[in-house]
Amino acid sequence: MGNLTCGLCGKEFAEKEDWPHIEGDSNRGVLKIEHFCCDEHKMLFLTSKN
Ligand SMILES: [Zn+2]
Repeated sequence: MGNLTCGLCGKEFAEKEDWPHIEGDSNRGVLKIEHFCCDEHKMLFLTSKN
């Protein structure tokens, strides 16, 4: 219940361990929300994105 999938490695994890990344801003609105199993995967995802 409430499990999320990491946007980088695809691992499922509990929502309480969530490291969300919200794409978009307050003016344009939220475009997409990615969830990650750890802060490291969030950083790797963001740095490899462009
Ligand atoms: Zn991960």
